[in-house]
Amino acid sequence: MLGQMMTQPLLISSLIDHAERYHGGTDIYSVEGGGNVTQTSWARVAENARRLGSALTALGLQPQDRVGTLAWNNRRHLEIYFGVSGAGFVCHTVNPRLFPEQLTYIINHAQDKVLFFDATFLPLVAALHEQLSEVQHFVLMGPRDEAVLSQVPDVKFYDELISSGDPGFEWPTFDENTASSLCYTSGTTGNPKGVLYSHRSTLLHSFASNTRDVIGYSAMDTVMPVVPMFHVNAWGSPYACAMSGSRMVLPGPDLHGEALVNLIDTYGVTLAMGVPTIWQGLLAFAAKSGSKLTTLERTVIGGAACPPSMIETFRERYGVDTVHAWGMSEMSPLGTTNYPMAKHVDLPIEEQHKLRENQGRPPYGVELKIVDDDGNDLPHDGATQGDLMVRGHWVLNSYFQMQDQQLLSDGWFATGDVATLDSDGYMTIRDRSKDIIKSGGEWISSVELENIAVAHPKLATAAVVGVPHPKWDERPLLVAVKAEGEEPSEGELLEFFDGKIAKWQIPDKVVFVDALPLNATGKVLKRNLRADFEDALNG
Ligand code: AMP
Repeated sequence: MLGQMMTQPLLISSLIDHAERYHGGTDIYSVEGGGNVTQTSWARVAENARRLGSALTALGLQPQDRVGTLAWNNRRHLEIYFGVSGAGFVCHTVNPRLFPEQLTYIINHAQDKVLFFDATFLPLVAALHEQLSEVQHFVLMGPRDEAVLSQVPDVKFYDELISSGDPGFEWPTFDENTASSLCYTSGTTGNPKGVLYSHRSTLLHSFASNTRDVIGYSAMDTVMPVVPMFHVNAWGSPYACAMSGSRMVLPGPDLHGEALVNLIDTYGVTLAMGVPTIWQGLLAFAAKSGSKLTTLERTVIGGAACPPSMIETFRERYGVDTVHAWGMSEMSPLGTTNYPMAKHVDLPIEEQHKLRENQGRPPYGVELKIVDDDGNDLPHDGATQGDLMVRGHWVLNSYFQMQDQQLLSDGWFATGDVATLDSDGYMTIRDRSKDIIKSGGEWISSVELENIAVAHPKLATAAVVGVPHPKWDERPLLVAVKAEGEEPSEGELLEFFDGKIAKWQIPDKVVFVDALPLNATGKVLKRNLRADFEDALNG
């Protein structure tokens, strides 16, 4: 017997309809390319999304055609998110920080029919457009600008496209399993791979994001996603904020500490999300400027391990609660978030703080397990480490248009991370499996060493990599960036590890660099460091 309840497909258009109907007057602030801030609202985003959906349909796009974006976090990008998916096309956010060859590969592989781009990326599009064979319409995200026509022939202008669209456009209805958006992984090996999200997976991810122990966006929040809208859909925040009717602050291109602190203080941001490298700059500027980040209540930090010292600084100096989160493109991205449980509230405060350092536990909808090299399940005892496997409602099944995939093992996706899990599901990521340091048969977590190193007051940031060693195969090398005006010695940095970890895990050597190499999503490129310092311990 079937239940007798209404069945409505879980479609992204329903999110923007809801935001318009119940939160239409809620403000959205958007930093534009030139640095000026424009103000819009959920009602105006909804109207423009409908106009865009109708204009794209009028251009002759077919259901499921891909529509690319090369854009920062701004209001037009937000309208594209809803307009494109709502009208039944696939919103393909392209990471503009990738190399031109990778951009060309991704846009061609996705067969994008339309490419929206911010004015910042005009030189890039002017250089690449001839190689982007599938793209039929290039659209500059702004008003008409005659000068652009000479660089990209037949270019269209977003604001004109919107005004030609129908504000009364009715969203089409279709199967909730239809593809809604596409994101390519940064691809540290081989070509980037596409993850194709569906309306259903996006809606379920939004529901889960909005539960109290995940992120729990609220209509009381002013949310600033610093994580780019081209990186796993800004962790799904545009969808989840439409669902909750949150105010949003879209920070545009300038993600330096000064710009972010000013936005927080000017617009009263209560909740901000991003990778640890972003917060390093923000905390450094806040300390220098004397800002107290008064309105900020929570930061969600993930994408790479958040150092405990950062959680502590936010807590002790600014009264900000940091939620350490873990996820990946293949998981939409949320996999775990760190919130305590009722049984923890009576623990001594130091122990409560300690518990908040790891990557947290999964919400309903995600399952985690760890396995050994032969695929056997390992105990969830908080100590045994193994290869992390996941499955759930918003985890990918297979990559977009890739041949010969044998991706899942027994229905589980191998994350490539090495982790421990405890009996409550709290997870500690020990490393990416390729970054873990194998020293004489023992494993050393580079993440653990980095967490200690970056707490040193004379360092701005640091990474630890395993480099070849004649006796131990590999030993840890600390690659350090000095804090402004500081001159730490190798000796004092290495002594700093004393008593914090076993002696044999302490790095063998320190090398100083001016900056760490970062990939297109702001993560340290350890592969480059390993190559650069291959001979550091050999001779
Ligand atoms: P991406 O798909 O580019 O978002 O990368 C996902 C990978 O980032 C994961 O598999 C982890 O290796 C890493 N990652 C994400 N969040 C965290 C975290 N909180 N701590 C440690 N590693 C993380």
